[in-house]
Amino acid sequence: MKIVPYPHPALRSKSDVVKIIDQEIHALAAGMLELMYERDGLGLAAPQVASGQRLIVMNFAGDHDQKDKEYVAINPVIVEAKGTVEDREGCLSFPGLYAKVRRHKTVRVQAYNLKGELYEMTCAELAARVWQHEIDHLDGVLFIDKLGMLGRMATKKSIEEFQKDFKKSLDKGEYPPGTAPKL
Ligand code: ZN
Repeated sequence: MKIVPYPHPALRSKSDVVKIIDQEIHALAAGMLELMYERDGLGLAAPQVASGQRLIVMNFAGDHDQKDKEYVAINPVIVEAKGTVEDREGCLSFPGLYAKVRRHKTVRVQAYNLKGELYEMTCAELAARVWQHEIDHLDGVLFIDKLGMLGRMATKKSIEEFQKDFKKSLDKGEYPPGTAPKL
């Protein structure tokens, strides 16, 4: 399992609802948590490891030792959103790229944990931002889609670099044949 960079096509696919929480889902969550901590991320969504399951992992402290801040969210949904706030955001599929993104300030979310129990929580600020960013991934939506005109201009060069690097990886055969980026 590895984190795929933009513009890998998995990042633009809409993920499927998880119907059974089996060993495969447990292994997916465990592998994703490991990668997230390895790369110092606060969240990771299944499309980022080229999986098509509606599953995200998060740790709002970004700290392996703070297990109380760690969440596995299966089939997550935002049931209520309030306010807006703009802040700097990055993504493990765009290493080194940061941009200001407008998000809801507070969200109430629902998801299933690995035991199949439904939980609900209300989050604000950074945690709310992480939930929104990761849930977007499950619908093939990326943070670069949310930028205003200035943000798009400021990130244009970096995004073109990601596209060039990905094409090089494809040419080198680092991805299965038929992997074509959807830009
Ligand atoms: Zn991301």
